[in-house]
Amino acid sequence: MTLAITTRRRFVALLPLSGLAVLAACSKAPEPVVEAAPPPVPAPMPAPTPAPALPTVGADAPMVDEADATAASLGYVAVATRADAVRFPAYAAGRQCSNCALYQGAAGSVAGACPIFTGRRVAAEGWCSSWAKKA
Ligand code: SF4
Repeated sequence: MTLAITTRRRFVALLPLSGLAVLAACSKAPEPVVEAAPPPVPAPMPAPTPAPALPTVGADAPMVDEADATAASLGYVAVATRADAVRFPAYAAGRQCSNCALYQGAAGSVAGACPIFTGRRVAAEGWCSSWAKKA
């Protein structure tokens, strides 16, 4: 009789533990912690390619003819004061090729290259509607 009571008490005492064991066995294992991948490192930028060199225009290159189709469409004149300010209101006194950002003649030159008129020269005192202030 004593043995039966002891066994029953042990059974009752161990019963909650067996329930915990069953719960532990059935519960889902915790997800492994996944470290966030580091952000991708951007590929290095390729070295900038140098701008193509503008074709050189020699001192013997022909001058731009005002009658040339491109020249006429831009209102180019060899002497800026003859600019058609009505047709080209961008003209203002004092604006001329020699103080245009596109003019490639040396300081004090009478003519120089302009990328608009490839292979030809424009007069330092000339002007066209593409004039841009030299920085
Ligand atoms: Fe002259 Fe400038 Fe016109 Fe060229 S862009 S023709 S340099 S005003």
